[in-house]
Amino acid sequence: MNPVLAPATSASLIRGEVANLPLYDPGADPAEVAALSGSRRVIKLSNNENPYGLSPAVAEAIRLSVAGGVSRYPDPTGKRLAEAIGQSLDVPAERVVLGNGSENLLELLCQAVLDPGDLVVTQAPGFSLHEIFPRVMGARVVKVPVTAAFGFDAAAWRDALAAGPKLVFLANPCNPTGVMLSADELEQVVAGLPESALLVLDEAYGEFARANPEYPDGLAALRALDRPWIVLRTFSKAYGLAGVRVGYGIASDAALIQALDRVRTPYNVNQPAQDAAIAALGDHEHLANTVRRTGLEIARVTDRLRGAGLCVVPSWTNFLFIDTGCRSDWVAQELHRAGIIVKAWREPGYENFIRASLSTPEENDVFVRCLTEICAKGQL
Ligand SMILES: *Cc1c(COP(=O)(O)O)cnc(C)c1O
Repeated sequence: MNPVLAPATSASLIRGEVANLPLYDPGADPAEVAALSGSRRVIKLSNNENPYGLSPAVAEAIRLSVAGGVSRYPDPTGKRLAEAIGQSLDVPAERVVLGNGSENLLELLCQAVLDPGDLVVTQAPGFSLHEIFPRVMGARVVKVPVTAAFGFDAAAWRDALAAGPKLVFLANPCNPTGVMLSADELEQVVAGLPESALLVLDEAYGEFARANPEYPDGLAALRALDRPWIVLRTFSKAYGLAGVRVGYGIASDAALIQALDRVRTPYNVNQPAQDAAIAALGDHEHLANTVRRTGLEIARVTDRLRGAGLCVVPSWTNFLFIDTGCRSDWVAQELHRAGIIVKAWREPGYENFIRASLSTPEENDVFVRCLTEICAKGQL
């Protein structure tokens, strides 16, 4: 006989892992900040987007794709885009996987690989989805702290890797610090990888860092590794296509891609996104312009904020991690009143930090002026 069960409620149905998850923080809603500040134009620096927008060639590709009709399902294999990516990187298309943003690939990797209780290693401060997706699967997440100077802590990484993680999430450059790992540091992670581990190298900001000759090319660094690995990249940041949702991974072998293909929803990348990404790969000039202008602004704004006495972490991305010297929740709120959205950092030890992506020179000047005024007031 069946035991008498209490009737289900939504709360009783939710898995413990899910009920206890932190909610992803997308930053403040621009419409709300517009209402609060009374400004018609909100300066949105919270999501590391590209202020210069997408390439005109990509806009045209999207227009044509939509005009061609969206009543059919997209190509479930993303064949043309996977081939274009493979060709641009000299990798066979069967080792390329496409995602609805590279976030989708982080999620699929966790679903394909992690059993409850498995260990995952990543960095702190870090990208929240490197923690949230493993926890959904019931995995344990150990976050390796950065050094006091926001750098790579070789000894702490060695210990964490020795504990036998199944999955290692490493972002280079790192989010939220913007710090770039050197070839030597990346090599230390690779050398310390236990037999059990799959290395996920998240290069969401790699296009910006590649302007630095010291930036290690992840694909080249991992090519000889006799262990499974995957390098993740995205069209959301330097290519200016965050709203379109398309990212990709290049894996050590086709078997890993086939596993992800089994887990993913079959039409995870829509056709306008596939067509946009193909066009984006072809417009080298737009990418180079974005990277050049972003680099100039990163250097200029870093100098100005440091000149005003703020601690700014050296960044090889399109954002800055800034110690405001006061509670970042309060700073962010004050910035909202001025119509500027940044992300107040909440990880333990970093409650005085904000992460702000840069925009055009004009908007960045407004940001610098408001932030330095607010910090001067807050530090009194
Ligand atoms: C933005 C970001 C991503 C992915 O963004 P998608 O829009 O999903 O491609 C992945 N990793 C890090 C560290 C990021 O900052």
